[in-house]
Amino acid sequence: MKLINESAWQYLSVKLPMLGAFFMLILIPLLQWLVDYKLIPDQYYAVVTGLVIPALAWLGRKIAQPNLHNVNSFVTVTAGHSNVDPGAINGKFKEAELVTKFRNAVAHYLKEEGIAIKTDGVGSDNHNLNTAIKLIKGSDVAVEFHMNAASNKAAYGIETIALPKDKKLAQDLSKVVAKAFNSKLRGDAGWIDQSQSARGKLGFISNGGLIVELGFISNDAELKTFNEKYWLAARDIADVLIRHVK
Ligand SMILES: [Zn+2]
Repeated sequence: MKLINESAWQYLSVKLPMLGAFFMLILIPLLQWLVDYKLIPDQYYAVVTGLVIPALAWLGRKIAQPNLHNVNSFVTVTAGHSNVDPGAINGKFKEAELVTKFRNAVAHYLKEEGIAIKTDGVGSDNHNLNTAIKLIKGSDVAVEFHMNAASNKAAYGIETIALPKDKKLAQDLSKVVAKAFNSKLRGDAGWIDQSQSARGKLGFISNGGLIVELGFISNDAELKTFNEKYWLAARDIADVLIRHVK
């Protein structure tokens, strides 16, 4: 058996049934009196006394206690590279600028849902990796966006690099982007184990984050799709993150 490392007493689902037990000290003699004087049938006694505690537990579970849930929780979304490091380039398009727009779009949808967020800048600001890594600590989930590049201009597809513990989330993130961009999944159904990544160990991932590669900037068709549909993919990424934290 594994115990949860928090006090159970703060929950109404625990408090209310305990109060109910004291309430029974009054209720039981009252019911007994009603039965004795034949004001209610015998069986009501058993039904009512048996239902009070579970009903209070249900009520306690049902009443929202927002102050107890996710007090300090937040989602980190960051853009790869920085204002001084453009990342991969195709014509006039720079990876750092495209993923900054994507970060802003995801941040927009998360905020709309009332999710607290941390980002490596607002607007066209894109702070460097060290800043991004510092934002991971304490987050429920941290995601950084990049675009792939290859000398083979035909290479395409979506992948998310993550630690094995985040495999499912990585696959879910890749899946929605691949669908929005009508692209394909790379790696293990969209997941790349950091140890199998050609880039070696990535600081953002070693510190607990996930890196989503939003297609190949070097592939003209995929770059065009990104520019046309990145809002769609960003909305779906936000949905996956929202489901993950809720
Ligand atoms: Zn990159």
